[in-house]
Amino acid sequence: MDRRHAEALDAADPLARFRRSFDLPEGLIYLDGNSLGALPRTAAARIDDLVRREWGRDLITSWNTAGWIEAPQRVGDKIARLIGAQANEVVVADSTSVNLFKLAAGALSLRPGRRKILTEIGNFHTDVYVLEGLAALAGATLEIVPTEDVVGAIDEQTALVALTHVHYASARTWDMAAVTAAAHAKGALALWDLSHTAGALAGDLNGADADLAVGCGYKHLNGGPGAPAFLFVAARHQAAVRSPLSGWMGHAEPFAFEPHFRPAADIRAQLCGTPPILGLAALECGIDILLEASAAAVEAKGKALCALFIQLVEDRCAGRGLRLIGPRDIAERGLHVSFAHPDGYALVQALIARGVVGDFRAPDIARFGFPGLYVRYADVWDAVEILREVLETRAWDQPAFQARAAVT
Ligand SMILES: *Cc1c(COP(=O)(O)O)cnc(C)c1O
Repeated sequence: MDRRHAEALDAADPLARFRRSFDLPEGLIYLDGNSLGALPRTAAARIDDLVRREWGRDLITSWNTAGWIEAPQRVGDKIARLIGAQANEVVVADSTSVNLFKLAAGALSLRPGRRKILTEIGNFHTDVYVLEGLAALAGATLEIVPTEDVVGAIDEQTALVALTHVHYASARTWDMAAVTAAAHAKGALALWDLSHTAGALAGDLNGADADLAVGCGYKHLNGGPGAPAFLFVAARHQAAVRSPLSGWMGHAEPFAFEPHFRPAADIRAQLCGTPPILGLAALECGIDILLEASAAAVEAKGKALCALFIQLVEDRCAGRGLRLIGPRDIAERGLHVSFAHPDGYALVQALIARGVVGDFRAPDIARFGFPGLYVRYADVWDAVEILREVLETRAWDQPAFQARAAVT
């Protein structure tokens, strides 16, 4: 294996042309698209038109004439195609944290009499925090058990099993169909956080018989910083599920100004307030590129990039203190790769200073993401060579690389 081999893989890559759909700085190796996706080239012009024409000139008429009011559903329908759901099962709204709260509360409303919510130790912290807050408010219990005990802990008291499909640190995937079936066998529901799945792996929510799901807009969907999130409610649950945030956009007729709440009969019941139109427009630009490329193709290439990265790091950086986190089998992973290292934080800073952008996850994890739309095989080769140089010279042994930033 050498750089020429990586270049040959790029030359034969059917997704190679999509790199030009993104505005990436020359010379930068961006391996953090799993945390903040790259900027779609179409986004700046789209936002400019939205701001100057739709907002600036057409003003309030744009709610009707520019499709603003339908945007949460229109963009939701597009996301549905990436995650294996039907149109009308997905809507864009709020943040992932807020959507998780709404749907976990919705699960309690679908399973009256059951008061247990189950998740795993090491689930992403906002997910655990939100479930803790909901449990306290709703008089429910949150049971947080070791990964290997989750399925066995589902019982007749369990209303909901809430898990993240691709783990934020290890990239390990849950078998969504198997866990959902285990939940259903006990009469419980399954809620999947797809934050590291949507736009990375071709999802199959309907195939897995999933009940509920949430996910993030600014990671592999390339929706921009703070992009609105999405949520999924299986069609069979939509008539009965109740959102605890019964705002006017979730009303059957928001503009009838009725004195009391009456939920919409469809996925719109999960909306709360006025949709963030600027954020939705940027998100739609990112999603349109994914739909053109196809989720399956992005997954296949991303997995090939991850496999190459693991192989090159283990061959060329052996004996330098890196330890792979999560499964070695690519079939059981999402599109990021983490290595533990005792000086993980400073190591990541030294790489960033050399133009290789990954991120650090406490306590000791250096994490690298491989979105198939814009990362090249040659980038993987170059990143590993720079990593090797940093490890061999202990380039992070400098005060500048030890100082922690607010956001890592
Ligand atoms: C990124 C991520 C989130 C993000 O939540 P926000 O509400 O957007 O801050 C939530 N859950 C998981 C598993 C994530 O990876």
